[in-house]
Amino acid sequence: RAKSAGGNRFEVADPEADARAITRHGLTTALPMALDRGEFFIEYQPLVHLGDGTVHGAEALVRWLHPQHGVLGPDRFIPLAEHTGLIVPLGRWVLEEAVGQARAWQERHARTGPMRINVNLSPCQLTHPGLVSDTVDILEDAGLEPDALCLEVTESALIGADDDLLKPLRRLAEMGVDIALDDFGTGYSNLANLRRLPVSILKLDRSFTQGMQQYPADPVDLKIVEGIVSLAHSLDLAVTVEGVETGAQAEQLRILGCDTAQGWYYARPGPPDRLHELALADARG
Ligand code: C2E
Ligand code: MG
Ligand code: MG
Ligand code: MG
Repeated sequence: RAKSAGGNRFEVADPEADARAITRHGLTTALPMALDRGEFFIEYQPLVHLGDGTVHGAEALVRWLHPQHGVLGPDRFIPLAEHTGLIVPLGRWVLEEAVGQARAWQERHARTGPMRINVNLSPCQLTHPGLVSDTVDILEDAGLEPDALCLEVTESALIGADDDLLKPLRRLAEMGVDIALDDFGTGYSNLANLRRLPVSILKLDRSFTQGMQQYPADPVDLKIVEGIVSLAHSLDLAVTVEGVETGAQAEQLRILGCDTAQGWYYARPGPPDRLHELALADARG
């Protein structure tokens, strides 16, 4: 790479220079081409029932296999894609891939029940006029029922959202698509505001899960999670927890009444076949 970049030989031996070479600018200009070249891929992280640990679906998490820099996580390029608007075609690609994958899992697991798929949406996708029609087309083309899809929107994207912003989400929710409020608890949103949102799932942010790591768990975190779960359930919302890394956390969150979970304790994000194996293991008992 150093050679093709102009023969600066120092770059090869200097890791800091190498890191600097991965500039925002360089990545930003490479993004559109990367989509055309098929450099993005998706890892799937299982979502499990806290009660019995069985897999009921997965979250799609996009990665970029950069030809020089290797695998880059979404935190490195999603903000850039949002800034340039590439997030709209990239997000559509993720949705199409993930929905197709969910359909393929369903076909392989006809006897173990439907596999659900969670896909993250950027705020820019919410304001894009094609969101509803693209989603409908993608579901129809794949033959996936709308209620097998969950779109994750961060709490902060919906803070102060007006009716125009909520309209496409309402349409999708009416069709049966679940809307989840991602990273819940970090955005200081008015809890009463929840009633207004077309949301059916709260995804409790990882920071709460971290409070359950030590034994006994942080008593303040326990109280907060207990409160959120009871509020959520009284509004008919399901509660998912993210970032579960230990069995103790899982047990604590189960006792607190959380419904589903996701985290390294169950499985790291991985290729689609890995999910198939996990679901199959469940089916065998
Ligand atoms: P998120 O939606 O909150 O996804 C959860 C993140 O937590 C993922 O990071 C996942 O790999 C990580 N994680 C899962 N279990 C554990 C655990 O037990 N411990 C710890 N420490 N981390 C865990 P990832 O894959 O790096 O994604 C980061 C964020 O990038 C996502 O946060 C999401 O906001 C965004 N993102 C990912 N894919 C997409 C996409 O297709 N579109 C959009 N717009 N955003 C995406
Ligand atoms: Mg998410
Ligand atoms: Mg999240
Ligand atoms: Mg998060």
